Amino acid sequence: MMTKIAFIGLGNMGGPMAQNLVKAGYDVCGFDLVPEALDQLEQAGGSKAESVAEAVQGASAVISMLPAGKQVESLYLGDGGLFKTVGSHCLVIDCSTIEADVARKVGQQAEEQGIDFIDAPVSGGTAGAEAGTLTFMVGGRAETVEQARPYLEVMGQNIFHAGGAGAGQLAKICNNMLLAILMTGTSEALKLGIDNGLDPAVLSEIMNNSSGGNWVLEKYNPVPGVMPQAPASHGYRGGFMVGLMAKDLGLAMNTAAGSNTATPMASLAENLYKIHSIHSDSTLDFSSIIQLYDSVR
Ligand code: NAD
Repeated sequence: MMTKIAFIGLGNMGGPMAQNLVKAGYDVCGFDLVPEALDQLEQAGGSKAESVAEAVQGASAVISMLPAGKQVESLYLGDGGLFKTVGSHCLVIDCSTIEADVARKVGQQAEEQGIDFIDAPVSGGTAGAEAGTLTFMVGGRAETVEQARPYLEVMGQNIFHAGGAGAGQLAKICNNMLLAILMTGTSEALKLGIDNGLDPAVLSEIMNNSSGGNWVLEKYNPVPGVMPQAPASHGYRGGFMVGLMAKDLGLAMNTAAGSNTATPMASLAENLYKIHSIHSDSTLDFSSIIQLYDSVR
C-alpha cells in the first residue's frame, strides 16, 4: 500500500511541493480553502479532501504550507486542532514561514502528545518548489529530521538542521530579511542604471558577474523582460507575494526587538514594503517593489 501524506495549503508553494510528492509515488491527499488548488492536485494524480480531518485520515505524515502563524496555530492547536486527531504514529512537518515562538509552542504541544513535529520552512521560490530543489531549514529533534528526510528530499535539494524547535524559523527569518534588503537594493541599482540610459539586461549581466552579484540578479530579476521565467515578466503574478514579504519583515523586526539587535537596513526595507503594499496590490510578487522607485519621481 502506498504511504499516505496529508498536504494542507496548496498555494503557490504547497501546490507544486505536493505534486512532486505525487510524482515520487506517494498517495497525497490535499486540503485547501480554494477549490481550484484542490482540482490542480487531483489533475496531477493526488486526491482532494473536503476537510482537514478527511485529509489526515490514515496518513503517515502531515505537511502544512500555510500563509502565517495564525493559520498554523489553528490547524494544529485550535478547537478540533489536528493534534487532537492525529495519532503518535504520524509525523508532522510545517513548512510555512511563521514566528519561531509559534513553532516552539506547536512543537511543545506535539511533544506533550507524543507526536513527532519539525518546523521546516523553505527557500528557493516557486521555481524551486516546482523543480524540487528547495532548501529546507529545519528545527526539531535530530531523529525527527531523519524521519522526515525521505519526504524533504523529494521536495528539496538541501536540508539543513538548524537546531531545536523554532531554529528552522529563525534561520528562515534571517534569510528573508537579507532577501528583502537584496531585492530593494538591486531594484535601486537597476533603476539608477535605467534612468541613466543603460539597458537593464546588460546592466544585470554586468553586475551579476561583478561584486554586486546576488541571488536576485541570478534568478529573480525585478525588471520585466530581462528574465523570461521570473514573475516580473509575467505581470508580477505567482511567486512570493508582497504581503508575505511584509509579514516576514515583521517577523524579523519582532525577533530583533526581542534580542535587542540593530537591523537598520531591514527596518528600511520593511517600511518600503509597507508603503508598496498600501499603494499597490499586495498579492503581486515581491519583486514589484521596483515599481515603487517609479512612483517617487
Ligand atoms: P499562498 O497564499 O499562495 O498559499 C497559501 C495557501 O494556503 C492558499 O492556497 C490558501 O488558500 C491556503 N490556506 C489558507 N488558510 C488555510 C486553511 N485554514 N486551511 C487550508 N488551506 C488554507 O502562499 P505561498 O506563496 O504558497 O506561501 C506559503 C508559505 O510559504 C508562507 O508562509 C510563505 O511566507 C512561505 N514561502 C513562500 C515562498 C514563495 O516564493 N511564494 C517561498 C518560501 C516560503
